[in-house]
Amino acid sequence: MPKQYKQCLLQLQKTCEVIGLINEIKDMIGITDDEIEILTSPERIVEVSVPVRMDDGHLEVFNGFRIQHSSALGPFKGGVRYHPNVDLDEVQALSFWMTFKCAVANIPYGGAKGGITVNPKNLSQGELERLSRAYIRKIANMIGPDKDIPAPDVYTNAQIMAWFMDEYSRIIGSNQLAVVTGKPVELGGSLGRDTATAQGGFYVLEKMLGNLKIKKSETTITIQGFGNAGMNFARIANKFKYKVIAVSDSRGGIYNEKGLDIEKVIIHKELSGTVQNFPGAKNIDNEEILTLKTKVLVPAALEGVINAKNAGLIKAEVVLELANGPINMEAGEILSKKEKVVIPDILANSGGVIVSYFEWVQNISHHYWSAEKVQAELIEKIIPATNKVWETASKYKVNLRTAAYIVAIEKLVKALKLRGI
Ligand code: NAD
Repeated sequence: MPKQYKQCLLQLQKTCEVIGLINEIKDMIGITDDEIEILTSPERIVEVSVPVRMDDGHLEVFNGFRIQHSSALGPFKGGVRYHPNVDLDEVQALSFWMTFKCAVANIPYGGAKGGITVNPKNLSQGELERLSRAYIRKIANMIGPDKDIPAPDVYTNAQIMAWFMDEYSRIIGSNQLAVVTGKPVELGGSLGRDTATAQGGFYVLEKMLGNLKIKKSETTITIQGFGNAGMNFARIANKFKYKVIAVSDSRGGIYNEKGLDIEKVIIHKELSGTVQNFPGAKNIDNEEILTLKTKVLVPAALEGVINAKNAGLIKAEVVLELANGPINMEAGEILSKKEKVVIPDILANSGGVIVSYFEWVQNISHHYWSAEKVQAELIEKIIPATNKVWETASKYKVNLRTAAYIVAIEKLVKALKLRGI
């Protein structure tokens, strides 16, 4: 199947899962069909053409999107993705997901997502800058610090956020640092944003292990993906004396049942370009890493890696979804039947959006926090969110994913009612 269709299907499946879940829990928590209709319909869908003068002088027109799903809980919030597979369906599904993620994290944001159908690897730095600025000019009237706050996503980064902020500020006529998050620290970015997803995931996992009465001494951790989320997670877990027995990147993985020294693995990867061939560890492939005997499995790379083919082979007792959507629908059902504890992505990787919210708070107040303060505030947000999901799972006798959606839906419906919608 061509990659772009596969990607699209995954997104669609994710939306179906959410809508399926909403219908499943509708009677449980007593929400009406009208409320579901509002919850599942994006407030605004915008498609723009983005003309860019290329380096060789010809003009190219790209397709751009911004979908504002819900503002029930606050300004819209969500990343902008640059990818050749970006289309309306994908951006819509992702905007939907952001609404639920922000609601579970209990931050005062709604959900949105943006994107441009482009392969940024084919653009020069100048073309990338002109594209980014042109996109912002096209959506400038719908974003703003109190309206909609974009952020980085796949193939967008701090430099692109700096251009977004600068272009928007030129249009408004004054510095508007709070219009985007994920900026460089020199331009109002927050300390701790680069490790926030991993750090938040670690706090969630520790809390859940405590709830499940699983001791640190009996916890072994296996991590698929050794980028921003996976590598930082491995480093933090190792620092706090958890035994990380296997890690992997796109080239393959390594395994040592006695535990890996993650700082040394990081140096090895920096020097050789991969974690593989690490002295004292056995090379394994990316399928094997998912099915190793381990207490905790952390998929931190791609969507849909745990599917109907391999879900039955998962031996981990706890799966922490640090990546977005690593477990597909069928696999979720298989794991549920096998009574595996899946900590859902909308909670597990919410540290990223929580620290993005802190960046916005700092920009608005013009007062900047130390790294220690960011950590302390992250704990204050993510632990109550974790507790709420855990208590909801016990109250309704459902798994943690369903519980996370119940938490989000209850909050959203309450907000809609109070607004009088
Ligand atoms: P990244 O690009 O920094 O890292 C991805 C890692 O996955 C790399 O080490 C890469 O080698 C590895 N990888 C690629 N293909 C692989 C494969 N087939 N098997 C094993 N490893 C493979 O990306 P990231 O920022 O760490 O994001 C990873 C996941 O976490 C994504 O699903 C992303 O949406 C999610 N996430 C990230 C953040 C964040 O703040 N970085 C926030 C929320 C969610």
